[in-house]
Amino acid sequence: MDQNISHAGQSGAQSRNDFLLSFRQLVASHLPSGFMSEPNTHEQLEYAFKTLSEGAPLLANFEAEVQEHSILSFADELSGLLFSHLSDYFHNLNVDQSDLIVFPMPVSTMVNSVLKGNTDASALVGGAHTLPEEVRSLIGTMLLRPIRQAVRIAFEHDHPSHEWRLGYCPVCGLWAPMGRIEPEHGRRLLWCIGCNGQWRFPRVCCPLCYESDQKKLGYLSVEEWPAWRLYTCETCHRSLKTRDERHADCAGATEMDIDYVDSGILDDVASRDGYKPVKPGEPAFRVPFDETARKYIERSRSI
Ligand SMILES: [Zn+2]
Ligand SMILES: [Zn+2]
Repeated sequence: MDQNISHAGQSGAQSRNDFLLSFRQLVASHLPSGFMSEPNTHEQLEYAFKTLSEGAPLLANFEAEVQEHSILSFADELSGLLFSHLSDYFHNLNVDQSDLIVFPMPVSTMVNSVLKGNTDASALVGGAHTLPEEVRSLIGTMLLRPIRQAVRIAFEHDHPSHEWRLGYCPVCGLWAPMGRIEPEHGRRLLWCIGCNGQWRFPRVCCPLCYESDQKKLGYLSVEEWPAWRLYTCETCHRSLKTRDERHADCAGATEMDIDYVDSGILDDVASRDGYKPVKPGEPAFRVPFDETARKYIERSRSI
């Protein structure tokens, strides 16, 4: 998706930045409720919190009471933003704005299914069949940002010192598609595209399979991107692009959303080298957990 959008004629970096900044403002204007009705939210969260210690992300056990009119108006504004800032891209694909986000079935059912990790976020963008799946996943993930971010904020407010050491987001259950290395202590943080949250994760460990044997882990550098590392794993053959804020060329506090979209070329490099990057909005495991998920959680406890 990233590369396609970067090819969108005069819709260059500035246009993408404008879009992403407007997107953040749009999300902020829909917080704190994030399309949800108020009652029971805290009770639901408390119940979901109990299962966190077993590795289940909060939203896997959370029934969002979605306010349909609210998410539909957000969808409308989001498609307006996409069209006004990235119009070349969508016009090239011959997509009408009114066709960009059309829910193929009852909104609440769809949203809850995606939030629980049972349906791909691309399914939320049902009307725009001409769009590549990666783009639909990204737009679908953006569409749910207000809900996920509202739940994350409530979670962090109620449990400020909670420690999470898995490679997927404790709120959304999505794999982190990007990480960063802090300038002061060189610690690694993972970033979630679902809720815009971050959490610490060990440096010498693959977030996607918990491999911690140094011989199996490495990273690729790309000459034009000196402040970035592409962490790779020989066990699961996946990759994670990471902004190294210790590097002199690192712009520092750029919004993660912007860096994520701008650095799409790094994921292409990883793919060319045989590593599979995380897709936007890619769920880690379904709940209840299967054998693969249970083994992953077990490995995380042994390190
Ligand atoms: Zn998240
Ligand atoms: Zn791995």
